Amino acid sequence: MRSPISITLRSVATLVALAILCGCQAPAETNAPEPAPHPPETASGPLLVTGGTVIAMDPERTVIENGAVAIVGERIEAVGGAAELAARFPDARVLDARGRFVLPGLINVHTHVPMTLFRGLADDLELMTWLEEVIFPVEAAHVDEEFVRWGTRLACLEMIASGTTTFVDMYYFEGAIAEETARCGLRAVLGETLIDFPAPDNQTWEDAVAATETFLAEWKGHPLVSPAVAPHSAYTVSADHLLAARDLAAKHDVPLLIHLAEAEEETERVLELAGKRPVEYVDGLGVLDDRVLAAHMIWPDESEIGILAQRGVGVAHCPQSNMKIAAGIAPVPRLLAAGVAVGLGTDGAASNNDLDLWGEIDTAAKVHKVTTRDPTAVDAHQAMNMATLGGARAIDLDGEIGSLEVGKRADLIVIDATGAHQQPIYDVYSVLTYATGAADVETVIVNGKVLLENGEYQTLDPAPILAKAAEYRDRIRATRAAAGSTTAVLSSVGE
Ligand SMILES: [Zn+2]
Repeated sequence: MRSPISITLRSVATLVALAILCGCQAPAETNAPEPAPHPPETASGPLLVTGGTVIAMDPERTVIENGAVAIVGERIEAVGGAAELAARFPDARVLDARGRFVLPGLINVHTHVPMTLFRGLADDLELMTWLEEVIFPVEAAHVDEEFVRWGTRLACLEMIASGTTTFVDMYYFEGAIAEETARCGLRAVLGETLIDFPAPDNQTWEDAVAATETFLAEWKGHPLVSPAVAPHSAYTVSADHLLAARDLAAKHDVPLLIHLAEAEEETERVLELAGKRPVEYVDGLGVLDDRVLAAHMIWPDESEIGILAQRGVGVAHCPQSNMKIAAGIAPVPRLLAAGVAVGLGTDGAASNNDLDLWGEIDTAAKVHKVTTRDPTAVDAHQAMNMATLGGARAIDLDGEIGSLEVGKRADLIVIDATGAHQQPIYDVYSVLTYATGAADVETVIVNGKVLLENGEYQTLDPAPILAKAAEYRDRIRATRAAAGSTTAVLSSVGE
């Protein structure tokens, strides 16, 4: 049995460490905001994605062989048979999807996109070793607005190529993330992290709230970017500040993003501080309602699951990240059974190494079978649903995205379904969940605009972004060498 002292020390160390996962102790460097850019222009005439198997991911589980989706402007105008829609839209630009699956774009409900520049910096370490010896020093030395912009661009390259059309982010310099996201044409819910420590872009709570107010005012109503309020967690933000964050989200009618029930030590810490478990505690403050998206949710008990369902709180399930840092496995079958909206997140690439939702879909469909010893837990359709309509429900955007339905935003992806690894095809959800990967994504459309066509980027030039990633790698490596890092340095690859 651990002594109370060791529990407390470990709890505090781990919780502070988790707080710092999002770069909250790097130095400040403020830059004047640029005006919000307009999204890429949408195609002028109708666009017809036709001839493929349309998998709508709607509640009726509509699948149309030799189907088509007609896009007019930013929205889906029609979903039906290829011949029928060809007759209805004779002048449309045609995108041939024969031999392909046509799906709604994937939704990543929890990430920290600038941290892509820390991908693979150090893996397989104890959390405190990883943070204190690796992440802390490099964030202090490197995270500024420029870093955030290049990290976001790198993340957007990866997300577009792997079929993610919407992502939910919590980091700093979120205005810069919004600008880069809008420029490349992806959709996002973006929350400037609020935390009771000095942050890279704001040194005080008051400054962070003022910056968030400006961010919300600037981006509210943008066709691609939904601004949000993002108090970091129940253990890094005081009760008064959690209430202030709630009031700010309510005042502007925007989502509230928070890490919650993420670590076993968090439960111990909050019990110690407030005499309540984390979900009970924030609910008792009046923070939980249907605008809240809670990331991780690994440790709720039955009564807390009931609270989440009652309040309409969405959950971001990040199975691979939770596995990699040995944090535990969220009780997703019980959350779904209680009616909680659950989406899938990759978390940041510093801790989970990629932004590939296909890996999360596959993992989500398998890991709960292990923990419950029940092979029916989270079936193939449920896993795909969490990455599409379920994820949209979790962020309250299911009226706009998440399925291919008339009137929704035209966010869709075309996937090669002819690969040997996918044959033969008995069940589309089985193929998608267990046998399809990021490399099968060919074409990506967001808000009616083609961002990737047959594997070719339409809004981003990868070369300078990849070069800059290598440049940051060299700078970060030099910082670590100067600090006398004893961790092995990898040889140069992939340049
Ligand atoms: Zn996170």
